[in-house]
Amino acid sequence: MANVYLIGAGPGDPGLMTIRGKEILETADVVVYDYLANKEFLAYAKPGAEFLYVGKKGGDHTLPQDKINQLIVELAKSGKVVARLKGGDPYVFGRGGEEAEELVEAGLTFEVVPGVTAGVAAAAYAGIPITHRRFTPSVAFITGHEDPTKDESSHDWVAYAQSKSTLVFYMGVKNLPDIASRLMGAGMDPETPVALVRWGTRCNQQSMVSTLEKVADEAARRKFAAPSIIIVGGVCELAEKLAWFEKRPLFGRGVVVTRAREQASDLSKLIRDMGGCVYEFPTIAVSQVLDDEPLEKAVLGLAAYDWLVFTSVNGVKFFWDKLAELFLDARALAGIQVAAIGPATADELKKRGILPDFVPEKYVAESIVDGLLERGVAGKRVLIPRAREAREVLPEELAKAGAVVEILPVYETTLAQEDPSEILEALESGSIHFLTFTSSSTVHNFFKLVDPEEIRRRRGDLKIACIGPVTAKTLSGYGFEADIQPEDYTIPALAQALTQARQG
Ligand code: SAH
Repeated sequence: MANVYLIGAGPGDPGLMTIRGKEILETADVVVYDYLANKEFLAYAKPGAEFLYVGKKGGDHTLPQDKINQLIVELAKSGKVVARLKGGDPYVFGRGGEEAEELVEAGLTFEVVPGVTAGVAAAAYAGIPITHRRFTPSVAFITGHEDPTKDESSHDWVAYAQSKSTLVFYMGVKNLPDIASRLMGAGMDPETPVALVRWGTRCNQQSMVSTLEKVADEAARRKFAAPSIIIVGGVCELAEKLAWFEKRPLFGRGVVVTRAREQASDLSKLIRDMGGCVYEFPTIAVSQVLDDEPLEKAVLGLAAYDWLVFTSVNGVKFFWDKLAELFLDARALAGIQVAAIGPATADELKKRGILPDFVPEKYVAESIVDGLLERGVAGKRVLIPRAREAREVLPEELAKAGAVVEILPVYETTLAQEDPSEILEALESGSIHFLTFTSSSTVHNFFKLVDPEEIRRRRGDLKIACIGPVTAKTLSGYGFEADIQPEDYTIPALAQALTQARQG
């Protein structure tokens, strides 16, 4: 292994880091990172890895560059493998070259993991191919950070103006009026299209297209600020035709996901894929049951049951953890009929080699009861591994129908200790458009963490989505009607319903 890895983290969309970059993050001892690098990457690091933020926000450097270099050298010399994570590509205006020189001088080994640079990625996400045969033979990456009061510009403005290159300026928004006037002064046509892309590739991306003559005023009026790239050239004409990212159904919409952290990812991913901004606000913490003697007993005595009914993904997971702990596997379920309350629970079983005998068409306890009755559950022993706190409909109805029901708590849900300040701020600033609830407990817990009054005040701009009628009923107990309720009580249907609500 090398001592230090200079890794490009890409422009912001977490999918745009390279596989090599991720691989290294997973093994590094220390991660030294910047302001622009998306923090989500830190989740890749191995347990116990150290994180050092050396940020850079505009001119405000958390650590001066020489101190950053020194820090990296010291960490590496102490024997640690250092991942130096930088926004975009480490060698494109990232001072990665200087860091690498220091490493060589200190006798340390290093590897560079190139990244997707903002000038390429933000342009592409705004619908602009930076080269195109019809428009330009070349492209230039230029720093826009030069002090405009400096008498001698180190830029050759005439060369830029006459090159026919697409010009991509980094760090240039503040100097935009100067950049535009220097290019026009050097003979560039004032009608040349210019695009600005702010926070490119992220769900809060903003873009605009104007002309060299008008762009400075328009950017000021629309309050464009850093981090933005400026693209000058004919290719910007294609932005409207080739836009794709900003056309996604949930683009620019903020969605709160209230599920437990371990379960949030499926819904969060669907929302992100549709262009939405996810605010994960876990209201539920999930953990193993403390007293697991009954669980152990049931697992060891599985042969005595006729039916196993799983009502959640977590039920399957925690039940299987216990099987594994006791050196058992799917064969322990041989001869037992298995039911799953919905497709996600069924998938979790399939992953473990069990094809459920019954999955109801409607994913609520009431439907599972009808289905099981049809399958002759009367007089049979039914085991329901589930959360300690859950609705009693299923066991009660099955018992009424003559089944011998045993409830087996395999996990507990408690109130998550989540700080609501980020959500409250985002609500206040109008960045949140949807609130999603995927179970009654997410509703109850949400309102333990957030005062219903806060939601009532923002109700005009906010749509509330509930996965099904039971959750919606719980919500109405707090004085709110659900605006969105999918026909199918599933996560994909819920995500889809958000896009329809947006169009409607
Ligand atoms: N090494 C980085 C650039 C660092 S300089 C890279 O290769 O992308 C910082 C400048 O990059 C910002 O001022 C802005 O001009 C640009 N930039 C970085 N991320 C951006 C993004 N997501 N959208 C638009 N511009 C971005």
